[in-house]
Amino acid sequence: MSRFFKNKLFHFLAVFLFINSSVPPVRSSSALAAWELGSDGILKLRTKSNTDLKAYFQKGNNSYGDRFWIDFPGELKNPRIIKGNGPIKEIRLGKPVKGKTRLVFEFNERNSMKPLTWRLVGVDQNRWRIKLFSPKYSFKNIGEGDVKKITSKIKINRNSSYIKKWNDDGIKLPDVKQDKFLVVIDPGHGGPDPGAIGIGGIKESDVVLEVSKIVKNLLSKKGVNVKLTRYKEVDLDLPPRVSFANRIYADIFVSIHANASRGKRRDINGLETFYYRGWRGRLLAKRIQKQILKVSPGSPDRGVKQGRFYVIKNTRMPAVLVEIGFLTGRLDARRLEKSIHRKRIAYAIAKGILEYLSKVG
Ligand SMILES: [Zn+2]
Repeated sequence: MSRFFKNKLFHFLAVFLFINSSVPPVRSSSALAAWELGSDGILKLRTKSNTDLKAYFQKGNNSYGDRFWIDFPGELKNPRIIKGNGPIKEIRLGKPVKGKTRLVFEFNERNSMKPLTWRLVGVDQNRWRIKLFSPKYSFKNIGEGDVKKITSKIKINRNSSYIKKWNDDGIKLPDVKQDKFLVVIDPGHGGPDPGAIGIGGIKESDVVLEVSKIVKNLLSKKGVNVKLTRYKEVDLDLPPRVSFANRIYADIFVSIHANASRGKRRDINGLETFYYRGWRGRLLAKRIQKQILKVSPGSPDRGVKQGRFYVIKNTRMPAVLVEIGFLTGRLDARRLEKSIHRKRIAYAIAKGILEYLSKVG
């Protein structure tokens, strides 16, 4: 997205505008947690989760060089100026208006930046990066705080109610009104897009399809109408998944995925459930997350989070995206390759959905 602003004095070019969340920040302190401009010309930022960032560029003139700045919600405590090096003249942190934080990079006069090539990329819920230039000569890192720090605390899941034996009939799922609800289950990826590839070549698209089918059966037995966005290993783009759910006026949308960690780290395991907005989506996410944790003891609770995934952002009903474990994680992968665990996970997702439907209706 790009927007152009004009006023009498300058041409302001707003390079990007990100709107991630309709939820206002709870606290009014600055959403900027850390920043670092590296010797590779890449600016990294760490912010509060789901921060609205607005980035701007202003071309230099005779009296000053190019400027680039980003506005963050929340008020900065102590405005300051940091001396730059290389092509950066100085960096200023200020509060342009009450309740805001502005991070300004002022380039030296002789440098001409190419803002049209810039892309501000969201790396995860808290992290952003933008490549500003390719340094031609040595350049020292400048920054404040730790941009790599993990802000969302990952809790250890000490759930003990692990279902040792699996027996379909013995499990009590909540009752809901017969033939009243329509649920769309979306098995992630498919066909030529396998999604995450885990330990031993285990494929996300296979695992989530199997889990999705079991969820469908469990819900159908409870009198819920269920449609899957895909029934086999086919390539399915994201827009048709969304338009399908919107067209049939599904009551809820549940996208099922499995995770992979960068660098395929075996020590990273855990479960997480995303929603985009609204208390219904959040409630559905919470119910599902609680249940999947119960059948995955020892695997970390990465929490219920807001996420801006296409399928949950563009569906018009309460929608969640469930990550049922890391296929690259030693603990999760060992489980997810077993059909008994896939059944447990499916049961847990079905239970979370039914709890939600029986409560919210
Ligand atoms: Zn996925």
